[in-house]
Amino acid sequence: MSIHAQHYTRYTESATILQRALKVIPGAANSWTRWTDIPISPARAQGARLWDVDGREYLDFHGAFSAIVLGHAYPDVAQALTDQAHGLVLAGIGRTPAEVELAERLVRHIPSAEQALLAPSGSDATYSALRLARAVTRRDCIVKFAGSFHGPHDYALRSANDAGEGGTVGPDGVLSAAARTVITCEYNDLEAVADLFARRGEEIAAAIVEPIAFNASLHPEPGFLDGLRKLTTEHGALLIFDEVITGFRLGLGGAQAQFGITPDLTTLGKALGNGVPVAALVGPERHMSRFGTTPHGTVPYSGTHNGNGLAVAAANATLGVMEREPVHEHLARLGDRMRAGLREIAQDCDVPAVVTGSASIYNLLFTDTPPRTFADILSVDESLFLAYRNEMVRRGILEMPLPLMRAQVTYSHTDADVDRALETAQVALRAARD
Ligand code: PLP
Repeated sequence: MSIHAQHYTRYTESATILQRALKVIPGAANSWTRWTDIPISPARAQGARLWDVDGREYLDFHGAFSAIVLGHAYPDVAQALTDQAHGLVLAGIGRTPAEVELAERLVRHIPSAEQALLAPSGSDATYSALRLARAVTRRDCIVKFAGSFHGPHDYALRSANDAGEGGTVGPDGVLSAAARTVITCEYNDLEAVADLFARRGEEIAAAIVEPIAFNASLHPEPGFLDGLRKLTTEHGALLIFDEVITGFRLGLGGAQAQFGITPDLTTLGKALGNGVPVAALVGPERHMSRFGTTPHGTVPYSGTHNGNGLAVAAANATLGVMEREPVHEHLARLGDRMRAGLREIAQDCDVPAVVTGSASIYNLLFTDTPPRTFADILSVDESLFLAYRNEMVRRGILEMPLPLMRAQVTYSHTDADVDRALETAQVALRAARD
């Protein structure tokens, strides 16, 4: 029996850390999706593996909510961070050559990008994208899609699951005036969006969409993204692709390159820094030049840590690896293996299931119909999902033990890692089912 199959009382040091945390950190977690039933206190990570403070080893398919794309402590990124820490962390004046190099890379890779601005988080990037859309259109309302997540700020926070995973955190404190400007539609329901634009088009500044809604485990049906592009253009609204998950994870050009659709604005983050906080907002010069970083710009844009030296070094190193090596081929191949393997396992275990995902991302959902909309996702068997994920974690396969959350491989995962995850999935699913 592996140590993972033994009882939680073996989590001695982790439990002690949890007790200390409960006194000084509200809920013992620095983000509302970090609480788990198993009291893991991570200590270090390398490649595809993560160890907790009790020395337990996990194969990590959690990937810090999709931020880790190359693997933990990836040598090129770790070296770049070390060099930068001894060079220049932050000057707060002008622009460093590395900031320019990163902007040039973003403009080169992202089809819709002519200019780029850096931010410390994906939430900052979406906040500024929405603000820019309001400034460009002189309108207030934003269309978003149920189950999608664009950050916890008031201007995109409205729909069933934005109230927190499992609905345990309410939207308390969200400015009601802001919430009224956020209109939620069902993902893939183009008719509803068309109807909304027909009725309220003159109020709508932008539609913000995850081109593949990995936060909701939903894929765009043929015509959905094209339809959004058409509707927003017809009604003088902007189309914002939130590529905080898809950017640099599907490929260097993100989902927009894959689908051949050009949004007006794009937000990027997560994989961009391989775990280091860095994000970006890119778009055409005619819109981007409205930011107050230009002499005549009127849209506020500032941040002490925008373009922080460590963040920029991590991003340049991450993109450098992706430019030189077959990162995305590897991610897609292992992702395909994982999805095919999970489908077989569910069939073998006689559990109705649908496997979603693409490229590095996968999810095993217990339902008999492929989900189209977030309403379909809400009918997935959540308790079986959680039981299965907890059985996986207990056996050393770290996938988010949270309702319906995706999992992913990194460039550091090997075929042997996928084999082990699939072997474990077979046992974990039987244990969860019975
Ligand atoms: N956009 C998407 C699609 C996300 O998934 C997230 C975070 O999960 C964000 C924006 C917010 O990014 P961050 O957590 O870096 O602020």
